[in-house]
Amino acid sequence: MLIRINKFLSSEQISIQINEKFEIDDEDFLSKTHLHKDIVFSGVIFKVDDNVILNGSIQYTFEDECARCLITFDKTVTTSFEAVLMRQLEENEESDEIKLKITDGCVDLEETIKQMIYLSMPMKSLCKKDCKGICPNCGVNLNNEECKCNNDLTDPRFDKLKDLLKD
Ligand SMILES: [Zn+2]
Ligand SMILES: [Zn+2]
Repeated sequence: MLIRINKFLSSEQISIQINEKFEIDDEDFLSKTHLHKDIVFSGVIFKVDDNVILNGSIQYTFEDECARCLITFDKTVTTSFEAVLMRQLEENEESDEIKLKITDGCVDLEETIKQMIYLSMPMKSLCKKDCKGICPNCGVNLNNEECKCNNDLTDPRFDKLKDLLKD
């Protein structure tokens, strides 16, 4: 995931736009995250005073599991980040900024992109907003079919009846 910026750095240009499709080939990372290996990267690199800044955005898709009905589905997420690109990294400097080293006119985005994907993955998702989930009694996926269980135990008429039977 190298981005070549040597031409840009030696030019008079203030900024460049980058749109790239990358493939992540880290099998371990892919299986851990259920990520589809193709990701889309787009960003702008611009010069500010003596600094070079990258504003990037990543779009990725992964196989997610619905927290209610447990089916798997593809979810696409977009996340963005900012990084400072430097020829020389200063060591031991405390800062939350992402710093990337420019080596031979290139910047390697692989680690940053993997980190951003990891951080932005939603913990809990639903296959759709009004997912009905599965029946706690018979295990049927209530989005696809209705079951015969009577899960509606909160009918007020039954409460009255229960009260009457108590006496
Ligand atoms: Zn669901
Ligand atoms: Zn049921």
